[in-house]
Amino acid sequence: MESCDLHLHSVFSDGTHTPEEIVALGRSKNFSLLALTDHDTVDGLPRFHEAARKAGLRSLSGIEITAQIGNREVHVLGYDFDPRNDNLCREMVLQRKNRKDRIGRMVSRLQNLGIRITVEDVLATGGTGSLGRPHVGMALVALKVVNTVDEAFAKYLGNDGPAYVDKPRLTTARAIGLINDAGGVAVLAHPALARVDSSIGNMVREGLGGIEVVHVSHDESAVRKYRRMAAELGLSQTGGSDCHGMTKGHVLLGHVRFPLEECERMLRRRRTPVPPAGGV
Ligand code: AMP
Ligand code: FE
Ligand code: FE
Ligand code: ZN
Repeated sequence: MESCDLHLHSVFSDGTHTPEEIVALGRSKNFSLLALTDHDTVDGLPRFHEAARKAGLRSLSGIEITAQIGNREVHVLGYDFDPRNDNLCREMVLQRKNRKDRIGRMVSRLQNLGIRITVEDVLATGGTGSLGRPHVGMALVALKVVNTVDEAFAKYLGNDGPAYVDKPRLTTARAIGLINDAGGVAVLAHPALARVDSSIGNMVREGLGGIEVVHVSHDESAVRKYRRMAAELGLSQTGGSDCHGMTKGHVLLGHVRFPLEECERMLRRRRTPVPPAGGV
């Protein structure tokens, strides 16, 4: 059975692999198709598509937009949209600026806790695109304040941690609208982590097209539950590893195999013709 991985992060957000490394890894693990879904950025896509073209692998434009419904954070995945869409690009530039400003505020908090860390230390982790807590965590590891990024989250960066700073998010309506208007399919990421089941109906009314049913964090009963929910709501189903390279301690690419056939079914929801081979 041909398989795909529709949830991957690169150095353009908080992953440790370059787009080229992701393609090489995916090829070595016999995937037929990969989608790059960096947080709040499409900047890695040209390199990703080019590497995939050279490797003879199919590639899909993807993104994972940070959003919220009520007061809960929701990640909205987008697939096969036009990555040059003006509104989408403009909004993502803003998200990244907000993310960068937030790094300064988290660094100040750490300094107030007596830790010698600067914004430059965080940037030195290789973060250039969409910056987030994992970059601060990697800097804390490099500075030997903690041993692992996980420990950095547990001690400082977690939602209840002393260095946590909230980030502005788009509404799900806006995130879903941006993806749909750019010709793509909007998909609710890792619903078992998001825990927003009671809001899925609202998101469907906002234009949601699918649910990520297969994800490393989903056990069998979660997969069954969200497959059933997707079927009942007439939504597409997607799946991916959410690989961040070494950010999360080990490489997850290969741990999840989603059937290519189901991806093809999801792609048939798109409203505009597929861009030429080679992507953007
Ligand atoms: P942010 O978007 O800056 O709030 O950071 C959230 C990101 O941190 C998400 O992409 C998560 O995948 C990642 N993350 C959450 N917990 C951990 C952890 N314990 N270790 C490494 N990364 C994490
Ligand atoms: Fe992440
Ligand atoms: Fe996510
Ligand atoms: Zn992700």
